[in-house]
Amino acid sequence: MTEETRLIHSGQAQTPLARTVGPPIQRGSTVLLPNAAALYDHESQVTYGRQGLAAQSALISALAELEQAAGVTLYPSGLAALTGAMLAVLKAGDEVLVVDTIYKPTRRFCDTVLRRFGVGVRYYRASLDADGLMAACGPATRLIVLESPGSLSFEFQDVPAIAAAARARGVLTLIDNTWAAGLLFKPLDHGVDISVQALTKYVGGHSDVFMGSAAVREPSLVRALDDGVLNIGWAVSPDDAYQMLRGLRTLATRMTRHDASGRQVAAWLAKRDEVGQVLHPALPGAPGAEIWRRDYSGACGLFAFTLNPASAAATAAFLDALTVFGLGFSWGGFESLAIDCDPQLSGRSARGDYGGPLIRLHIGLEDPVDLIADLEGGFAAWGAAT
Ligand SMILES: *Cc1c(COP(=O)(O)O)cnc(C)c1O
Repeated sequence: MTEETRLIHSGQAQTPLARTVGPPIQRGSTVLLPNAAALYDHESQVTYGRQGLAAQSALISALAELEQAAGVTLYPSGLAALTGAMLAVLKAGDEVLVVDTIYKPTRRFCDTVLRRFGVGVRYYRASLDADGLMAACGPATRLIVLESPGSLSFEFQDVPAIAAAARARGVLTLIDNTWAAGLLFKPLDHGVDISVQALTKYVGGHSDVFMGSAAVREPSLVRALDDGVLNIGWAVSPDDAYQMLRGLRTLATRMTRHDASGRQVAAWLAKRDEVGQVLHPALPGAPGAEIWRRDYSGACGLFAFTLNPASAAATAAFLDALTVFGLGFSWGGFESLAIDCDPQLSGRSARGDYGGPLIRLHIGLEDPVDLIADLEGGFAAWGAAT
């Protein structure tokens, strides 16, 4: 062979690979098959890289363990997991009932894409119980979408009751379980059909990778979600899958710290004169506290509180004074973040009255003493601007 050809074929992967603790990051669009018969044997082997290689498979099996699922599909973002799972089970003429406190980009997808393809979309209040929700179902209702708690205002839904009632009626349920990270709450154990999470948040844990997952138990749903990914053409990179697997190793350990620090900061906030209410389920009397205590094994680091009514300038002064907390969307990483929620609440059908500007905090892995000192500086600036 000429040098040109030898360079093209040299340096291919060693077999067998040395065994490391994690899977190899195997890159490949092309997959080489052992013989002609294997070329079209899509059932028993991977024939193309989009289906996922070693790192993606390892992540899928780890997430199946986390969710106790029969099937897990990966998507290039959390939003893609939500939209992909919905597209996989809905068709023209169906109707979907969506909780009003849903993640805003999910709502945008429902209002634009689903409606454009002839799927009816109606929103229901997060406080609606299973009976109310069943009464709201129509003959075309195919799917109920839950998000518990809402990621701005932290309403908890009675997921087990809703899932049981929906199943009895032949309506599918899908939950955005990003807050619980697949760890603090197990939707499939509580009768939910499709458990979705943005791995971008706590599983990734370092604010630098996008990915989402959908987990199911029912064999027909395993097939529907796999077909959905295949038909639409989504794939995640092996490098990203590896990063998610790396995050998963420390998920439980990190979550313990997020939870402890979150409770400490929430309890401190609850005693401040500048604060109306603290929407953290571990605080006595907080909205959703009973459901949370019954169904969840802990809390993550994401919660909200209200400032006493004051000017928008005072809210901005509070946020602008923070130096340890960053100002930014997203959460689940090692770093603490803050946002004001009010501009996002206006997109809802029922706005909800929280009694003052709603501030959302993500409590990261920093020392809570420093976080509290930072918030103290925020309150000083708020007081000066009020
Ligand atoms: C961030 C988020 C998503 C979307 O995840 P991306 O990976 O950013 O697309 C979905 N649901 C909730 C509740 C989120 O916070």
